[in-house]
Order: sequence, then structure tokens, then C-alpha cells
Amino acid sequence: MNRPPRKLWYFVCQCGAKFFAKENNLDCPRCGETLESTEQMEPPWTNRYLTIREAAQRLRASPRSIYGLCQRGLLVHFKLPGVGVRISEEAIEEFLKAYQRTGTGKPLRISGPRQKLRHLRV
Ligand SMILES: [Zn+2]
Repeated sequence: MNRPPRKLWYFVCQCGAKFFAKENNLDCPRCGETLESTEQMEPPWTNRYLTIREAAQRLRASPRSIYGLCQRGLLVHFKLPGVGVRISEEAIEEFLKAYQRTGTGKPLRISGPRQKLRHLRV
């Protein structure tokens, strides 16, 4: 799991798609444009990629729920031709942060209601 990060070819397509690949030559998965990368860099993640099932286990959800989140655009994922959906661990962390709430949905109050210190006599 803790493999050293490898450098990958970085692609930026005219259609706005940005992605990494092992080859420096490929067709854009979004628009089909043939692209050639000249920039090799370390991906911003060092995490591995999870399948829908693995992501579901991570979030203690059903695979169907995870798939729904992907379809609704709430969970960043990759749809790889011939491979299927992959979700980076980073994407899961980002997703969790986006939906982080306190128990009540209200800001946490540090101090409770003011107490009258009637019993204190100086
Ligand atoms: Zn494209």
C-alpha cells in the first residue's frame, strides 16, 4: 500500500479534462482528442485507487450508494475504459470533509449557558 510514488504523464485536454497516464500518448477519455504529454510528474496523490466495492467498505455503505454518489457527481471518480470505476482515497477524504457536520448541524458552542455562581461569596 505504501509504494513509492511514481511519475506519470500529465495531460491537460482542450475539453478541460486533466488526468495522468502511464503512456505519454493517448486519446482523451472525455472527448476522444488524441493527446501527447510532454510533462511527467508525480501525481498529487500517493494513494491507491479503490473499486466501488472497496469504497463502499471504506464508508460502510452499499456499493449501490457509492455508485449513486458518483452518478450524482458528489464523489469524484474515474471511469476507466475497460476497467470500470475507480475512486482515489484522496477523493473519499475530500468527500467526507465536504459533508462533515457537527452533531446538531450548528456551530459548536464552547461555553454552555452562563451559570450564576450564587454560592460563591467573596
Ligand atoms: Zn478532451
